[in-house]
Amino acid sequence: MAEENDGKHCIACGKDNFSIVHDEWMKRAFPFVEQGQLKMCAGCGAKYLVCEKCRNLYCRIHPALEAWELPDKCPSCGWINKDVTTWDGTSARH
Ligand SMILES: [Zn+2]
Ligand SMILES: [Zn+2]
Repeated sequence: MAEENDGKHCIACGKDNFSIVHDEWMKRAFPFVEQGQLKMCAGCGAKYLVCEKCRNLYCRIHPALEAWELPDKCPSCGWINKDVTTWDGTSARH
């Protein structure tokens, strides 16, 4: 199983059906979620940060997220989310 994010398909289940969701916990935990938008996979419930430029999936977001899991740019359009690249990985642990 390739864990490659192409910005359009869920890396967990491979589906491409997403809806905008709001997650108060993740907004508080991650500054880039607070500034951006979240999409949830209709197939498995995995959540993704939305790219502000192309509206595709920037990266997967989950409660135990570590800074090294985040991409340095959008896999679809190459846009760089400064809130993601400057995150030091500490806010999720309070
Ligand atoms: Zn999925
Ligand atoms: Zn993009």
